[in-house]
Amino acid sequence: MSNDAVVRNDWTPAEVKSLFALPFMDLLFKAQSVHRQHFDPNQVQTSTLLSIKTGACPEDCKYCPQSGHYNTGLKKEKLMAVERVLEKARQAKEGGASRFCMGAAWKHPGEKDMPYVLEMVEGVKELGLETCMTLGMLNEHQSAQLADAGLDYYNHNLDTSPEFYDKIITTRSYQDRLDTLGHVRDAGMKICSGGIVGMGETASDRVGLLIQLANLPQQPESVPINMLVRVKGTPLEDSEDLDNFDFIRMLAVARIMMPESHVRLSAGRETMSDETQALAFMAGANSIFYGECLLTTANPEKNRDLQLFKRLGMRPEQAIDKADDAAETAIRQSIVKQQQDSLFYDASA
Ligand code: SF4
Repeated sequence: MSNDAVVRNDWTPAEVKSLFALPFMDLLFKAQSVHRQHFDPNQVQTSTLLSIKTGACPEDCKYCPQSGHYNTGLKKEKLMAVERVLEKARQAKEGGASRFCMGAAWKHPGEKDMPYVLEMVEGVKELGLETCMTLGMLNEHQSAQLADAGLDYYNHNLDTSPEFYDKIITTRSYQDRLDTLGHVRDAGMKICSGGIVGMGETASDRVGLLIQLANLPQQPESVPINMLVRVKGTPLEDSEDLDNFDFIRMLAVARIMMPESHVRLSAGRETMSDETQALAFMAGANSIFYGECLLTTANPEKNRDLQLFKRLGMRPEQAIDKADDAAETAIRQSIVKQQQDSLFYDASA
């Protein structure tokens, strides 16, 4: 394995800036080379995301339609009934998702909500799906409860650099975010954490975000990179367009810095052309949200994703699992057939 593909937690701003400064093709080639040392380049992990409690969030994240601070016309919904969540998870599984993510617009989960949330985790897990939740800040006890219920991943985004953070959110601090990530790790869960580009941040802020993520004691297993979705009614509704090439650069640098993480092409995908998405996969993105809703922003129809996969000769991770299942079934059938054969010698008897 080349030195480029080794996991490091000591990235410096100068090194990361020099990655961003590479000619686009050189950066893409480097990112793809790193990617191939850790992943099947034609395979994409797919998750489905369900909003289990929508809107009226007390936080003031300036990009978010769910914040109670802004009037975005979003229909608020209380915590969804457990059975309804499980029904949606069943549908997601049938639709080919390998992971089911559940998101609630809370500052943190309340004690009265925890029993329901834990029941959801247990139920989704029983369906054979990987589980992921995003519920806001967690304390140590809540993290342990979720881990005991079988939660695989906890999503908690750092959003941007520490320096730019208070331009985007004032109701919590960067350290609050890092503390929750610490509790999640201590409880033994995997971390999904990334950020958003296109919020008016500088190039240094993009460097700063990736350094925070990559230099965590253990890098997040999943790194969603979102392109800002400008929602009417939020303070960022008139943000300037982000150059698609800058977005691809962000994915490529994330891939190089976090070579073993799934880099997720996340919000903003619905406005990207198929060609931009293909470039994103080339840059090392290997995870997408798959399904009709990405919390409350639109997501391209599943069919479009499948068609794009087909055109690119790519496949969702779940399809591999199914292929393995099919192979296993074939082996089992052949053993049964052999056992029925009078010449079969059963060594286990
Ligand atoms: S991003 Fe999350 S925490 Fe921030 S306002 Fe939206 S739902 Fe609340």
